[in-house]
Amino acid sequence: MASDHVDVLIVGAGLSGVGAAVHLGRECPGKTYAVLEARSAIGGTWDLFRYPGVRSDSDMYTLGYSFKPWTDPKAIADGESIRRYVRQTAREYDVQRHIRFHHRVVRAEWDSATARWTVHAHRDDTGEDTTLTCAFLFANSGYYRYDEGYTPRLPGVEGYAGTLVHPQHWPPRLDVTGRRVVVIGSGATAVTLVPAMAERAAHVTMLQRSPTYVISLPSRDRFADAARRWLPPTAAYAVARWKNVLLGVANFQLSRRAPGLVKRYLRRAAKGRLPAGYDVDRHFSPRYDPWDQRLCVVPDGDLFAALADGRASVVTDTIDTFTAHGIRLTSGAELPADIVVTATGLNLLALGGMTLAVDGVDVDLAATVAYKGMMLSGVPNFAMTIGYTNASWTLKADLVATYVCRLLRHLDDTGQQIVTPLAPDTDDLAPIIDLRSGYVLRAVDQLPKQGPRAPWRLHQNYPRDVRLMRHGPLTDGVRFARAGVPATAAPSGGNDA
Ligand SMILES: Cc1cc2nc3c(=O)[nH]c(=O)nc-3n(C[C@H](O)[C@H](O)[C@H](O)COP(=O)(O)OP(=O)(O)OC[C@H]3O[C@@H](n4cnc5c(N)ncnc54)[C@H](O)[C@@H]3O)c2cc1C
Repeated sequence: MASDHVDVLIVGAGLSGVGAAVHLGRECPGKTYAVLEARSAIGGTWDLFRYPGVRSDSDMYTLGYSFKPWTDPKAIADGESIRRYVRQTAREYDVQRHIRFHHRVVRAEWDSATARWTVHAHRDDTGEDTTLTCAFLFANSGYYRYDEGYTPRLPGVEGYAGTLVHPQHWPPRLDVTGRRVVVIGSGATAVTLVPAMAERAAHVTMLQRSPTYVISLPSRDRFADAARRWLPPTAAYAVARWKNVLLGVANFQLSRRAPGLVKRYLRRAAKGRLPAGYDVDRHFSPRYDPWDQRLCVVPDGDLFAALADGRASVVTDTIDTFTAHGIRLTSGAELPADIVVTATGLNLLALGGMTLAVDGVDVDLAATVAYKGMMLSGVPNFAMTIGYTNASWTLKADLVATYVCRLLRHLDDTGQQIVTPLAPDTDDLAPIIDLRSGYVLRAVDQLPKQGPRAPWRLHQNYPRDVRLMRHGPLTDGVRFARAGVPATAAPSGGNDA
């Protein structure tokens, strides 16, 4: 059994974990840290997902790190470019040597007497169990299960003779050339897969139970291209990033304040890209308001182009049963399929499945309230990264990492060792994730809550969070203490919470 100690233990070497390590190295250079990563590679999501066409659906000027300009001309980038960018960052900022691969964190136990976490990890490669200790635990473990995507009950699937695939486990040698493909789903993955497979398949059908808002955006950002021509890379990146942040905020606010207007705009935009007479209302006009679920972005209208030239089609219907050679629908229609792709989503998982205990008592995540969207009430020296639901994940990840570094420096400056958010005194709590998507609703009762106002409320607003996280107070709603003060002790004075 190996055992050692670091100041900060980062869980996960995806986009967020690598970014967190860079922030730590730059903003708290004296701190020791390690990154425990369950898999054998850097990149998380961008290493795991390998389906045809896999790409971002937000622009890379906001999905990229604040400290490392995205210089590729493609604003909406393919999975491999993003994977390369994360790996390059890890190499360039000397993060790589801190990563311990094949370490799946399963449990972390806080002890107030020593002001330390004891973190238990299982090594999938050797079967060994490892223990480390740290002063601060920083979870960057994403938000979904890696081992299994979500597949709903598919009636009659056991009698299906074709190939059934989930995008999370794409068979590397699957050849779709000349095959008839049905993609079940209408989310970001489905709208990516359909045009990508339609390039070689005989035909691709997107089978959706209900429509999603789909919007076409240019894969290249002309404003960013111009900025790159005139400005040094760092300035060009910052300008493009803020332009996209502000556009995103404006679009979101408009969707919230005038949903009817935005609905009409999205419908008109889709109609303009589809052939005359296409049933836009049936296939592209959801019943919910824009941003009740994430909008799906298609670069340069690739999905609409595949539909317009007949290589792909959308069917809005429900599955009656699988047959040996395809799917029979409730309407009675049959969809022949050599390959069926279940683009039916993710299984949400908090903290990468690790359990927490504080002074011998297990933490019930659903009973905690998220502080500034990144710490948990009653859990000392702990932070987690959860990105925005209405903007790029990394915008929030960067802010969380900066805030953690400010907090660590504040502890050192004031001679304290422990910082614990104190639960707000209110029953007015709401789910931490405000989307109405199926994957959120399936898991929301296992997740932390948010409160009615700052610092317990998530505003999903980057400019506002910049003020709060980079420049706002560090002492509101938390208790600072030295080692030896139990996490459950009543707060003492000297704290302006
Ligand atoms: C297909 C797809 C496309 C997406 N596109 C976008 C997009 O365009 N824009 C956007 O903003 N967001 C997008 N997202 C959300 C996306 O997940 C984030 O943008 C970002 O990749 C999250 O990074 P992360 O490092 O926080 O999490 P992940 O990428 O999930 O990485 C988490 C890492 O932690 C490791 N880990 C997990 N649990 C443990 C454990 N217990 N012990 C040790 N290691 C552990 C994992 O192995 C993984 O390496 C997309 C998600 C998916 C699935």
